[in-house]
Amino acid sequence: MAVPFGKTSKARKHKRRTHFKLVVPGMVKCDQCGELKLAHRVCKVCGTYKSREVIKQ
Ligand SMILES: [Zn+2]
Repeated sequence: MAVPFGKTSKARKHKRRTHFKLVVPGMVKCDQCGELKLAHRVCKVCGTYKSREVIKQ
């Protein structure tokens, strides 16, 4: 089995992990209220999809 030749430095490790994000994949910000919502789904908070009202409050 291949073994890493050199030790990965703290800086290199941290640079690699800059792509690790806390937000769950598939979650985007709502255009209307800015809340996190599931992508391609109606926003639960303001009831809009693609900036149009879909659910009457
Ligand atoms: Zn919303």
